[in-house]
Order: sequence, then structure tokens, then C-alpha cells
Amino acid sequence: MENILLSNTVILGSGISGISAGYHLQKKKIPVVIYEKDNDWGGLCGFFTIKGFRFDRFVHFSFVKDPYILNCFETSSSLYAHPTVAYNYYHGVWLKHPAINNLFPLSSDEKAKIIADFVQRPQKNVSEIQNYDEWLRVQNGNYFAEHFPFAYTRKYWGQEPRNMETKWIGIRIRSASLDEVLKGAFEEQKQNFNYTDFMMYPKKGGFRSILNLCRKGLDIRFNKKAIRIDTDQKIVFFEDKTSVPYNRLISSLPLPEIVKMLPDCPQNISEAADKLHWTCGYQVSLGFHRPDVAKHLWFYIYDEDILTARVYSPNLKSPDNVPTGCSSLQAEIFFDCKAPLLSAETVLQNTVEKLKQVCHFDDSDIVLKDIRFEPYANITFTHGIYENRAIIIDYLKSRGIDVIGRFGQWDYLWSYQAFETGMNV
Ligand SMILES: Cc1cc2nc3c(=O)[nH]c(=O)nc-3n(C[C@H](O)[C@H](O)[C@H](O)COP(=O)(O)OP(=O)(O)OC[C@H]3O[C@@H](n4cnc5c(N)ncnc54)[C@H](O)[C@@H]3O)c2cc1C
Repeated sequence: MENILLSNTVILGSGISGISAGYHLQKKKIPVVIYEKDNDWGGLCGFFTIKGFRFDRFVHFSFVKDPYILNCFETSSSLYAHPTVAYNYYHGVWLKHPAINNLFPLSSDEKAKIIADFVQRPQKNVSEIQNYDEWLRVQNGNYFAEHFPFAYTRKYWGQEPRNMETKWIGIRIRSASLDEVLKGAFEEQKQNFNYTDFMMYPKKGGFRSILNLCRKGLDIRFNKKAIRIDTDQKIVFFEDKTSVPYNRLISSLPLPEIVKMLPDCPQNISEAADKLHWTCGYQVSLGFHRPDVAKHLWFYIYDEDILTARVYSPNLKSPDNVPTGCSSLQAEIFFDCKAPLLSAETVLQNTVEKLKQVCHFDDSDIVLKDIRFEPYANITFTHGIYENRAIIIDYLKSRGIDVIGRFGQWDYLWSYQAFETGMNV
């Protein structure tokens, strides 16, 4: 058994939620040990470096506004505030984001179809809307819905929109007025219609460095993959055949994983876990020995023959992410957890070949190509998510396990919100 005090609190996972929980408990003089399956901390807020190119492990920017959390991040690292200007790539045309507000570059024919359908969009109260398919048609009209967000939903969420519910949308997707759509079709818009004006990113050290203050002084044990939890004896067992007793257990592990770790877990809990959906994802990371390949901080791609849904430019997040005179791109490719997964080779080839056309580079510009896989990216709001999530979380609570983070609370949390769950625990 690990040599720790019995009064200790054990935290599973050293992502932003685990780090935040550890930091805030330790501030209250509560001894804490964090156990992490990887050999480094940060989880999805971590990074990897190849040949001097740094790539974040999925997270991109912070949009935190809460003064206390912002102060924790700013004390850790000096931050850039990038204006939120993103683009959309649609059959060879570049449109500023959000596309519905910026139709100007499209052909007159396509603009006419979008606007005609926008004017005749179905009129429904929010309470009458049954699924995301209907929501998208009500917001945008049929033509735009079918050509833009439907395609993106299949690529980003790995689902048909009719399979998803709508409570998650909140401020994440803005609704446009007819006036805005018309203006955006007639002329280029200066106004930013995004949910936030600025996005923050550390000047040095990658996204993870916003956590330097909180990580300092924490006892994190690496290469400790939890595989079984005895909630009667209060012991966590690890893959390396060690174990640790706990007085209090806090988990940021994905619900479908932790359920499997509990011997004698009732059937209805395992069934609820089986019904959850999430996306897993590949990241294709590319480094170039040219400074100008990356043109946009990030962009969305709607064409379905291009597997990647979104592409980010790490060197535009911060020049500290690349060697001098270089640039970089990172593409995200998602699959539903229960759908057939394409091989890394197929995904890498499709992404590189398609991005050559979209971003205008060739093989001789590439310094490095990397592909890696994350088993948990986004939790998916398929029908029944709230009921199934509540069944599992209530059961875990009844077994004395507190859950935090995106996958512990099974919610569409941005990084600062995952941080908040660690703070609140
Ligand atoms: C594609 C994508 C883009 C995103 N972009 C943004 C963005 O721009 N801005 C933003 O604010 N948020 C963004 N997010 C969300 C943000 O990344 C998450 O909210 C946040 O990183 C979640 O942190 P967490 O601690 O909850 O989970 P995680 O980071 O997943 O941490 C969980 C930790 O538990 C460890 N673990 C798992 N299983 C075990 C086990 N059995 N034993 C021990 N340890 C284990 C993992 O290795 C990991 O370190 C993005 C997410 C995705 C997927």
C-alpha cells in the first residue's frame, strides 16, 4: 500500500479539475494526494513537444471572466488576449465566423437560397422543440441548417442532429436576426458575433501554464492508473498492483470508466453508463519550416470529404509554440465512441492531403507530422443523457465518491468551468 496518512484525501486525475481540487483543499490545510495514469499532469490541458513545436492536448483558449479564477491564471502566467476572430471553410470559400452572419463571400445563388429559407424558417417555441435538428431549422432555416451545422454536427459530435437534445446550447451558439443575416450577405461585417470578444492564452509555456500557481506544491503520483475501487474498505487499487487507502475520494475520471472499477456495481448503473455517448478524437499536428502556413487562429470545415472538423494554429496562439521562422497547424477529428473508428493512418493521410489544398502547403514545407488519439473528448448530448448521468452520479455519491470535471460531472465544461468544479468540491 502507498505510504500516506489515513486522513488523506485522494484525488483521481491531474487534469485542471483535479489540480484545482488539490490546490483549494491544500489551501485549507487538508492533505491531498493526486493519482494520475499518465506520466505528466494537465490532462486535456496538457501539451506535448516535438522538434521544438509545442501542441496543446485539445484545449485552446480560456474565456474565463470570474475575477478569482482569472487571477489564479494570470498569477501563473502572463496572458495574450486574442480577439475572437475565427473562420469557416465551405467548399473552397472562406467565411468569417459565425457563417450565418457573414454570408457575403458566397455565390448570389446560394445566398438567395439561405435567405429565402431563413425568412420561412419554422416558427416554434423553445418548449416545443424536440431535438437539435429542429432547433437548427428554427434558428437558421432549412438550407443553411442542412449545409452548415448539420454537416458540422456529424463531424464534431459524430451524431445526426435529430439524435441530440438542446439544453446544452445555452450561450454557445448565437441566434442571428434577419437584419443581421441580410447585412452580412450584402457586405463584409466588422462586428464580432461570437460569445466572447477575447480569448486568453499564455505567452509562454502552452495552455497548461495557467495552472502553474495551483500545481506548485501538489503531491502528484504519476503512472498510477486506477483500476478498482473498494468503497467499503475505502481503497483504490492501481494497475501497477499498488493500492491506497482513503478517507475521502474525489474523481475526475470518466463516468463509464469509474463504473467499471466498482465491483458489485448494480446492473441499472452499468446500463445507464452503457447508454452514455461521447466523442473520442484524433489530433493531427503539423509543423512547417515556413512562418506563413497558419493564417487563422482557428477555422471550422464543413466539407464532409475532409475528416477534420476544426483546425487551430498553435503559432498564432503564441509564437512561443514554434521555433523561430516556423508555423504549425493542429487538426481535430472526432468519432462517436460507439461508431467504427478509422485508422490513424487513414485519418493522417486524409487530413494532410486535404489541408494541403485548404492551407496551401506541400510536402517539402512539413517538418513534422504527428497523430495521437484521446479516448474522451466531448460528452455528447444524446437523448436520455440527464437521466442516465444522474443515476450514475447519485450512485457514486451513495458510495462516497465525489465527482469533478468534464467527465466526472459529465457536462460540456470549458476548462475554467472544470476548474470551478474542483474549487467547489
Ligand atoms: C477538442 C476540445 C477542445 C477544447 N477546447 C477548449 C478551449 O478552447 N477552452 C476551454 O476552456 N476548454 C476547452 N476544452 C475543454 C477542456 O479541455 C476541459 O474542460 C478540461 O480540460 C477538462 O479537465 P478535467 O480535469 O475535467 O478532465 P481531464 O483533463 O480529462 O483530466 C482527467 C485526468 O484523469 C486522468 N485519468 C483518466 N483515467 C484515469 C485512471 N484510471 N487513473 C488515474 N488517472 C486517470 C487523465 O489522464 C487526466 O489527466 C476543450 C475540450 C476538447 C475535447
